[in-house]
Amino acid sequence: MVDLEAGGFKNLICTYVIMGKKPFLVESGPTNSISTLLSGLKELDVKLEDVKYVAVTHIHLDHGGGAGTLLKFLPNAKVIVHPRGMPHLVDPERLWPSSQKVLGFVSEIFGKPEPVPKERIIPVTDGIFDLGYGAKLSVTETVGHASHNLSFQESINGGIFTGDAAGTYLPEFNIVVPTTPPPFYLDAALASLDKLISLKPTVLYFSHFGKADNAIERLKNYKLQLQLWANIAKDGVGKKQSLEEIRDRIIAEDHVIGQVLDFVKSHRIYSKTIMENCVRGFIEYAKQKQGS
Ligand SMILES: [Zn+2]
Repeated sequence: MVDLEAGGFKNLICTYVIMGKKPFLVESGPTNSISTLLSGLKELDVKLEDVKYVAVTHIHLDHGGGAGTLLKFLPNAKVIVHPRGMPHLVDPERLWPSSQKVLGFVSEIFGKPEPVPKERIIPVTDGIFDLGYGAKLSVTETVGHASHNLSFQESINGGIFTGDAAGTYLPEFNIVVPTTPPPFYLDAALASLDKLISLKPTVLYFSHFGKADNAIERLKNYKLQLQLWANIAKDGVGKKQSLEEIRDRIIAEDHVIGQVLDFVKSHRIYSKTIMENCVRGFIEYAKQKQGS
């Protein structure tokens, strides 16, 4: 695992380097962290020309935004991505303004994506990649957080690289909190969690951030947490409550977020992403459901 230290923040976003016969990367990370990733690869003795694949769980700036920049340093690598994410890697001109709108100043911390040449992309929704030494990595479509999130399960320990399908793990507290910025698809997210549970993972490798045990219990708890936030948002939207009012109710009713509240509130990035964007994801979903 390489801590990408985006914006100088440790434990925020990482790239996983699977040391198969050829190194296999999960997540490029954001554009502004590519130099940190390259130093990390050097420390791991990874030869840049040996890297064959960079799998991105989805194309949000912090996960796949740096793919175009990274490929300039990896002459033989291809990017694995969901087909719905592919057009945005080839031409990030639309992704950038929409990311700026949702993320605000955080988009500047991550940096503007550079395009990925089309011929260097492998679009997948399932399938198995051979890592060598008898190990495999299988692809599972886990949409919800994004319309195009992929997860990857390795066959050595049965661990799953979840991208943002299973929430944000705060290793300092051993706690998972939602990552549900708009457009968030609750029903799809819950179905994806069921899918992940059915794969019987032993551990979860969170892109935010790190390896966590008790995988199945964590996935089940995350489902409950999403349902709780969704119920509060639905009720709040019905009562025409503001984002702040709905957020305060979530804080009061979710004992999990309660345990990390001071940390999240004082964190420059999480205060924006978790306390604002993730609540808004539920509100917009509730409004959309109400309208339909
Ligand atoms: Zn993310």
